[in-house]
Amino acid sequence: MTFFAGRGESLEGLLRKGRPLSKRRLLAALGRAKQTETSEEMLGLLKSRQLRLLLDRSLKVFGDATRRTIRLHSHLRNMQTALGILVHEGRHVLDMRAGTIPSRRKPTAGEQLLAEGRAWASELAFLARNEFQDSRRWRYLENGPREVLISIELGYGIDEVASTEFARALKDYESLFPTWRQYAL
Ligand SMILES: [Zn+2]
Repeated sequence: MTFFAGRGESLEGLLRKGRPLSKRRLLAALGRAKQTETSEEMLGLLKSRQLRLLLDRSLKVFGDATRRTIRLHSHLRNMQTALGILVHEGRHVLDMRAGTIPSRRKPTAGEQLLAEGRAWASELAFLARNEFQDSRRWRYLENGPREVLISIELGYGIDEVASTEFARALKDYESLFPTWRQYAL
């Protein structure tokens, strides 16, 4: 697919700061980054056009996802941050498609924690694999899974998560980012 060609630009060039985000640069950079399981699988869906990417300036959040579409905020300026968020949303897409998390109804608190934990683990694993230290989210690598899940609960305003559901989310996090200990800063 032509958008991965990137006109011979290096990954470093594509990541250069201060340039406006474009779909072409984003996909070219994604194609050249070191892949994780999540990013690789998402890339497959993008290449086969089962998944589309849209940049949207009206988005109230950095990114969101349905089973078929990922939208990223077009004002994101840091390519490393944008790529991490893309992988985060990609995890949501894969999980919705697999039925791991619901796609057609509002998730319960436990399901929401599980979904976000899986997405954050996938995003951080991708940042770690590529050493994307310029990402705004890099500093989350200072935290182990338990701390990340607690900050998700607080940040997303999720409450009433039963301890069994927390344990499940923790297990999933560690399965998606098994080498996190290596990257603890
Ligand atoms: Zn998310």
